[in-house]
Amino acid sequence: MSLTPMMQQYQDAKDKHPGTVLLFRMGDFYELFGDDAVSISKQLHLTLTSRDKQLPMAGFPHHALEVHLRKLIELGHRVAICEQMEDPAQAKGIVKREVVRVVTPGTLTEENLLDPKQANHLASVFPGNKGRWGLAWVELSSGVFKARDIEPEELLEELGRLSVSECIWPGDYPAEVLNPLRQPDSGFTLTFRAHWQFDGHTASQALHQHFAISTLEGFGFQDHQPCLQAAGALILYLKDMLKNSLQHITRLEPFQSGQTLLMDQVTRRSLELVRTLRESRREGSLLDTMDRTCTSMGARLLHEWLSAPLADRSQIQTRLDAVAELRKQHALRRSLRDHLKQFPDLPRLTTKASTGRASPRDLSAIGLALGAVPPVLEALRKCQSSLIGILQERTNPCTTLQQQLHTALAEAPPLSPKEGGFIRAGFHARLDHLRELTRGGKEWIASYQAQEIERTGINSLKVGFNSVFGYYLEITNTHANKIPADYQRKQTLKNCERYITPELKKHEEEVLKAEDESKALEYDLFVQLRNLTAKAAPQLLATSEALATLDVLLSLAELADGSEWVMPELVDQPVCEVVQGRHPVLEKTLPVGTFVPNDTKLSERGGMLWLITGPNMAGKSTYIRQVALLQILTQMGSFVPAHAARLGVADRLFARVGAGDDLSRGQSTFMVEMAETANILHNATAQSVVILDEIGRGTSTYDGLSLAWAIVEHLTNVIGCRTLFATHYHELTKLAELLPGVRNWNAAVHEEMGKITFIHRISPGAAERSFGIHVAQLAGVPGPVLERARQVLDELENKPMSVPAQAMETVKRKRKKAEDQPGLFG
Ligand code: ADP
Repeated sequence: MSLTPMMQQYQDAKDKHPGTVLLFRMGDFYELFGDDAVSISKQLHLTLTSRDKQLPMAGFPHHALEVHLRKLIELGHRVAICEQMEDPAQAKGIVKREVVRVVTPGTLTEENLLDPKQANHLASVFPGNKGRWGLAWVELSSGVFKARDIEPEELLEELGRLSVSECIWPGDYPAEVLNPLRQPDSGFTLTFRAHWQFDGHTASQALHQHFAISTLEGFGFQDHQPCLQAAGALILYLKDMLKNSLQHITRLEPFQSGQTLLMDQVTRRSLELVRTLRESRREGSLLDTMDRTCTSMGARLLHEWLSAPLADRSQIQTRLDAVAELRKQHALRRSLRDHLKQFPDLPRLTTKASTGRASPRDLSAIGLALGAVPPVLEALRKCQSSLIGILQERTNPCTTLQQQLHTALAEAPPLSPKEGGFIRAGFHARLDHLRELTRGGKEWIASYQAQEIERTGINSLKVGFNSVFGYYLEITNTHANKIPADYQRKQTLKNCERYITPELKKHEEEVLKAEDESKALEYDLFVQLRNLTAKAAPQLLATSEALATLDVLLSLAELADGSEWVMPELVDQPVCEVVQGRHPVLEKTLPVGTFVPNDTKLSERGGMLWLITGPNMAGKSTYIRQVALLQILTQMGSFVPAHAARLGVADRLFARVGAGDDLSRGQSTFMVEMAETANILHNATAQSVVILDEIGRGTSTYDGLSLAWAIVEHLTNVIGCRTLFATHYHELTKLAELLPGVRNWNAAVHEEMGKITFIHRISPGAAERSFGIHVAQLAGVPGPVLERARQVLDELENKPMSVPAQAMETVKRKRKKAEDQPGLFG
C-alpha cells in the first residue's frame, strides 16, 4: 500500500525509533497509529478510530501529554515524541516533523513526573572481561554524573543503593545477573544498547567531546578504566534520548568505594531504611520518620545520606559537629528553615534551563531563589563548624544572573515563552515601543467601532477578531439594509454577516505586525535569559547542593532537638555501646512513653556476639534492628535515639531479619536464607556489624540448630564482628559457656499464674524456655491442641540425650584435640 506523505513521515520516525511508542503531533493532538493505537488506546482508555477507514488511530489533546506520559512510563513503555517543527500556517507542503525526545524512566526531567523526594538514577554497566566491570550513573535533574570500576559481585549492591530506575547494558552480553532487580514491582527498566557504544574508543570519544577534553585524568580517572566505557555509552544514550547538549553535566566524578558503609539489598530492605518491607512504601520507613527537610532537594539528599552512610570517622564527626551546632542555635535554625521553605527545586529548574525546556515561570523562580540566597549566607556567618564553613564557600548567589532575571522578568510570568507578556515594561526600548503600537492600534480599533456605529446607525455593530481573516465588522441580518457600500463581505453566518474595510485592514496590519514582532522579540529575550541561566548551571548546581546539605543538617538538628536524640561518641575500637537505646520508628508509632528502651554493650568486655533468646513477640527483632539502625544513623551523621552511645565505625552492616521468602524468584525460603547467610560469612570483617534473626528456621529442627550453632562459632571464632543473633533455639545458649565472646541475653517476659506478659526488656542470661505454647494460647489456638502440645513437649524434653548435649560434647572434644575434628554428630 502506498503511503500518504504524512504517513510516510510517521513511518520514517517510527523506523528510526524502534521499540518506542510514537506520539505524532498533528495540530493540537498527539496521535498514535497502527498497532500502537490498538494497544495503547486500551491502556490509556482512548477512543480507537481509524484513518481513511484502514489504519487504526487514537489520540489525545496536546495539553494532556504529561498525564499520558506518566502512565506510559509507569506501564514500562519508552515514548518517542514527534513534534511539528514549523508553523503549519507557514509550511510549504507537508509540515516538517521530528522526534524531539525519547522519554524513558531514567531520562525523565519533567518535575511533575518525578518524585520530588527521590533522586532518579540512570545507570550504565559495561561487563568487562577481566572480572572488573564498569559502572556509571547519572542523576539528570541535578547533573551529578559518577563512575567507578566494580567487582561483578558488588554490582547489585551498588545498583540497589542507588535505587536505579533504568540501566543500560550492552545488548550482546547476558544480563541474568540483573534478574534480582527485575521484579514486577521494582520499577527498574533494563535497556539494551548496541555493543559498539560501549567500545573503548567510541565511549572515550563521546566523553572527550562532551567535556571538551582530551583525557579523563584531570577528573581523577585513568584512561582505559572500564567505567569510562560505561560512562561514554551513557552520554551517547542521553544525547540520543534527549537530543540535547546537556550543558549541566559538567564533570564526571570518580566514586571511591570504601567511603561508605556497605549494605546489600537484603539489609536495606529488612531494615526498612527508605521503604517498608511489605508494601514498599516510603510511609513507615526510617527515612519518612526522620525527614524534617524543607526542600525537595534536601529530601533527596537525606535519602542519599541514609542509603550511603559514611565509613570514615572524621567525615562523620564533621557532619555530627554541624548538626550539634545547629541543634543548639534554636533561633538561627528557625530562621534558616524559614528561608529554605521558600526555595523551589533549584537543581531541577536549572536542568530544565540547560536542556532548553525551562519556561519564563521557571526562570523567574530561579531568579527569586537566588534573591533568597544572601540572607541565608548572612545567617550562616554566625556558625563555627567547619562543614557549614565549606557550605558557605560553595554557595554562590549568582548576583549578576539574579539581577538580570529580576530586571527582565515581570511578576508571575506565564508558562509559555511564545505568547509574550513576561518581559517587564521598561526592560527593552524596542519592545516597549512595539507594545505601545499594539496598544494604540487596539485603541484605534475600539474607537473605530464607536465611529462606525455612529455612521451606520447600527447599535449592535461590533468589531471582532479571528485567526483566519483577522479583524472584522459583524452586523446582524436585521440591519442588512443599512450596510455602507465600502464594506466588503467576508463571511456569512446564520444570523449575521462579517465585513472588512480597507481602513480596518490597514490598522489591523499594524497591530498584528507589532504584536508578532513583539512576541518574537520577547521570545528572543527569553532565549537569551535561558542561555545565561544555562551557562550558570555549574554555580547554580553547586549552590543547590550546598543548600540541600544545609537543609539535611537542619533536618537532623531539628529531629535531634524535638525527639531527645543524642550525639553519638565515635571511637576507634569496634564497639557498640548504647545506654537506653530506642527504635526510631517504633518509638514514634507506639503511644508516647510506652516504648521500652534497652542497653547494648557489644565489645571485647561485654561480648562481641550476643545471643538473644525469648518467646515470639517478646521484642527480639525490634531490639536487634534498633541496634543496626543506631549504627546507620550514626554513620550518616545523625544523632541517635538513646541516652548515650559510643560506637566504632563499621565497614559493612548485614541484617537478616525475618524470613524474606522470595517465591517470585523461584527460591525456597530456606535457600534464600542460606544464600544470604553465606554472603555474610564470606564478606563480614572484624569491623562489621551483623544482625541475624531466627537463622535455620526453614528446615528440620536438628538441621537448623546445627547450622545456627556452626554459624555462631564461625562468626565468633573466625570473623569476630559485632553480632546480635536472635534465636528461638534455646539450645544455642550453651555456647555462651563454651565461647568467650558469646553472651546470653533474653527478651524478658513476666509470668504469673501460667500467663505471660511481654515487658520488652533485654535482660542478661538465657530465656528459661521458649514459651511457644503460651504464645499459641495468646493467639487463640484451641485448648485441646495446647494441652496435647504440652504433653508432647514434656516427652521430648525428657529424652535422654538432647541435641545440644551432643553438640557440646563435640565442642569439648574439639577443644581437647584440635587436630582431630569429628563431625557435629559423629
Ligand atoms: P520478636 O522478634 O521477639 O518476635 P518483635 O520484635 O517482633 O518480637 O516485637 C513484637 C512486638 O512487641 C512489636 O510489634 C512491638 O509492638 C512490641 N515491642 C517490641 N519491642 C518493644 C519495646 N522495646 N517497647 C515496646 N514495645 C515493643
